[in-house]
Amino acid sequence: MNLESIYGLTSEQLTTWLLERGHKKGRAAQVWDWLYRKRVTDFSEMKDVNKDCLQLLQEHFSIQTLTEHTKQESADGTVKFLFNLKDGSLIETVLMRHKYGLSVCVTTQVGCNIGCSFCASGLLKKDRDLSSGEIVEQIMKVQLHLDQVGQGEKVSHIVIMGIGEPFDNFKNMVDFLEIVKDQKGLEIGPRHITVSTSGLAEKIYEFADLKLQVNLAISLHAPNDELRTRIMKINRAIPLSKLMPAIDYYIEKSNRRITLEYILLKDVNDQKEHAQELAELIGGRRAYVNLIPYNPVDEHSQYQRSDEQSVLAFYDVLKKNGINCGIRIEHGTDIDAACGQLRSKQIKQAK
Ligand code: SF4
Repeated sequence: MNLESIYGLTSEQLTTWLLERGHKKGRAAQVWDWLYRKRVTDFSEMKDVNKDCLQLLQEHFSIQTLTEHTKQESADGTVKFLFNLKDGSLIETVLMRHKYGLSVCVTTQVGCNIGCSFCASGLLKKDRDLSSGEIVEQIMKVQLHLDQVGQGEKVSHIVIMGIGEPFDNFKNMVDFLEIVKDQKGLEIGPRHITVSTSGLAEKIYEFADLKLQVNLAISLHAPNDELRTRIMKINRAIPLSKLMPAIDYYIEKSNRRITLEYILLKDVNDQKEHAQELAELIGGRRAYVNLIPYNPVDEHSQYQRSDEQSVLAFYDVLKKNGINCGIRIEHGTDIDAACGQLRSKQIKQAK
């Protein structure tokens, strides 16, 4: 039977659901604690929850909708998980170690329809959106992995940058944020969460109005429309003239700086004149440019990684123009590092 994931309920929804079925308010708090603090993997382990309540939960919800298919561990501590969903779909989740804590990169869709020309994930079209429960459960599985390792480590940061366009699965993504932020649960602060979008302008406005105080990252990757359309076909429908005002709106509403992601593709968008044009596009905005060395994927042989000299020259031009920027530190270079690479390899092997 395909039961809904219990992790898809916010604390308020769980309380209402149980109240409507005759259970006291405190019951939901107990269940919530077993789920997120004691992190049980079976309802029967919720020792102080009465039998009727447990039976009701068991009849309506599943506590395990993801099963581990493959796990790759890198020498730098990065762990890449491939999970099987109940319908047999595969998704990727990545745990990364930073100086400031442990972050998890989650997936929001099975495949992606945005079709960025450099991306391994975009090669496989979207099959469906993930439910909020399936997104939360990715964090829970990684946290359980850490619990098993036994060093008392906790997931402290989340990046919604895995497979899929989070703003194309807006409601479930917003519910996910509410669940992971809950102070009686995983308690991940909004400032420790980053949502990355390819630039769905209308959703950026909607998201800004929610005032969630999470970080927003925009996949920019080019300083002008002609080049951006070549790299990201979404730019045809949502050009920079629509995207930049949406970015300004987010900065103003959230009073936070925005991150602009820029993948450096050799001889495509990595020249000094591109950096100069990018600096002019950004102007005086409160923005941080994250320069990302490209991880080549077999299917996109037209793109190569920029050489170190070009990366540094690009960075210098931005700095000289007063742009706040950095070069992303890479994780898991000895495993399938590019987003979606592990999943697309597995799917090809299965065919
Ligand atoms: S980069 Fe992101 S938005 Fe673009 S195709 Fe890949 S998963 Fe989709």
